[in-house]
Amino acid sequence: MKRRNTPSKTAVLSALERANTALSHDKLLDTLAGSVDRATIYRILNRFCEDGIAHRIVADDGKQYFALCEDCSHQEEHSHNHFHFRCLQCDRVECLTTEVSVNLPKGYLAENFNGVISGKCRACGSL
Ligand SMILES: [Zn+2]
Ligand SMILES: [Zn+2]
Ligand SMILES: [Zn+2]
Repeated sequence: MKRRNTPSKTAVLSALERANTALSHDKLLDTLAGSVDRATIYRILNRFCEDGIAHRIVADDGKQYFALCEDCSHQEEHSHNHFHFRCLQCDRVECLTTEVSVNLPKGYLAENFNGVISGKCRACGSL
């Protein structure tokens, strides 16, 4: 089913594209400066996750962040096996492109992967 692109959807999408990093609801709300309300942002982000446009990261600060997917919309199952990095100083959350494989006990089946490393990003670490 093809979904209609509303102006709000386009605004959220381009905010994520411009940011080039993962954004929380609050940051998106800031970025969009009131042009899209909070509830709509929540709804759009959930839909993006279902459609393989974005994925959700629950970081170690307890907040949810959303990052654009490379091309998950072509995959049948929407899953990720990369870690995320959160900078404790500038609060930037980004996808680490290295794929991670974890050896689970026999008979276990992984469906979600949520790994977050926090520390200092390149810009903050070199201060
Ligand atoms: Zn994805
Ligand atoms: Zn930083
Ligand atoms: Zn990611």
